[in-house]
Amino acid sequence: MKVLVINCGSSSLKFQLIDAESEQLIAKGLCERIGIEGSRISFTATGKDKITRETPMPDHKTAINLVLAALTDKEHGVVKSLDEINAVGHRIVHGGENFTKSVIIDEDVIKAIEEVSDLAPLHNPANLIGIRACQELMPKVPMVAVFDTAFHQTMPEEAYLYGLPYEYYAKYKIRRYGFHGTSHSYVSKRCAEIMGKDYNDCKIIVCHLGNGASISAVKDGKCMDTSMGLTPLEGLIMGTRCGSIDPSVIELVEQKTQMTTKQVMNILNKESGVYGLSDDISSDFRDLEDGYFAKVPGAVRAIDTFCYHVMKYIGSYVAVMNGVDAICFTAGVGENSPIVRKLVLDRLGYLGLTLDEEANEVHGKEKMISTEDSKVKAYVIPTNEELAIARDTYALCKNLK
Ligand code: ADP
Repeated sequence: MKVLVINCGSSSLKFQLIDAESEQLIAKGLCERIGIEGSRISFTATGKDKITRETPMPDHKTAINLVLAALTDKEHGVVKSLDEINAVGHRIVHGGENFTKSVIIDEDVIKAIEEVSDLAPLHNPANLIGIRACQELMPKVPMVAVFDTAFHQTMPEEAYLYGLPYEYYAKYKIRRYGFHGTSHSYVSKRCAEIMGKDYNDCKIIVCHLGNGASISAVKDGKCMDTSMGLTPLEGLIMGTRCGSIDPSVIELVEQKTQMTTKQVMNILNKESGVYGLSDDISSDFRDLEDGYFAKVPGAVRAIDTFCYHVMKYIGSYVAVMNGVDAICFTAGVGENSPIVRKLVLDRLGYLGLTLDEEANEVHGKEKMISTEDSKVKAYVIPTNEELAIARDTYALCKNLK
């Protein structure tokens, strides 16, 4: 069974075609600058060179049409006809409280995704456009919605409530939801497998450190807490997002700079994080690491502050779970930055965790980075959100008639 995985952003669309039984990637690609001048599609069939083509993409439907054309292209394509695509899995950012797991998409599901769109105004509408476009172009193919928030729906009330008037939760559903759920679920499961432990009987902390960053505490296969909140702005310091701050900062910055709330929110989302802390050096950890080793003050400040917060969250999640068996690092920074991992893990000696410095040099590969005798284990586990989406899609669609 071939599953097309679609991840629709506001101006981009990532896709992968995966053979669900063998879990092999057949092809992948990206449409960029949808609705903007200079749009282009790139396409890579596994084992072949990447092909990039500039072509107008006024909307997502055009983009999906181009994806389907690329997949079936006589010369470079990977399937003879669209009939070979058996199911589509859509990444949906916000499921609110409506979805605790992946579901087959029908009109009720679409309505429920629409209902929570005000919780993710940049993402959910784009996700819905992707669903509608696929429905039009592949009307007979079953589709599945896989939510970034679903895995975190097991959080207890004490973890998801804010200290706000309760009616804000009751009336407006203002609470912590968490994101990157597909990744936290995939990595924590894989960690249990590697340790040879029962997923339903172990305590795992997953550090998903990419441009967006979040941590989760997974106990006995259930998410107990995670660092992102109502939106992905809460929690860790990120590439350009500020993470958790005192809300009074917003009012004070408005007073001092004459900016509007919208402008300040834009700064908190796009000009803060390690980028802001470094005094505009970069949001990319490759640049910041270069600066760190050259002792550039802004880069040192950004990386040290980032790692301090990761360490602090880990400590609090050990408390949440009353212990921890393993700490996992994943996503762009987590998989590729030995210095970030070292600065975090060197401060966790009190847990009985010892870093294996040599193993920690790993980039983008699954590896245990704690010593054999370390009481708490540490791992690098590359995430694969697309494969996780394909697995859920396959599980829900394989028995459909
Ligand atoms: P997202 O999906 O949130 O955009 P990714 O998980 O792709 O983010 O992570 C992107 C980030 O990973 C980059 O901004 C960069 O900081 C970091 N990164 C990628 N490769 C490396 C590397 N070799 N060393 C250090 N950091 C890296």
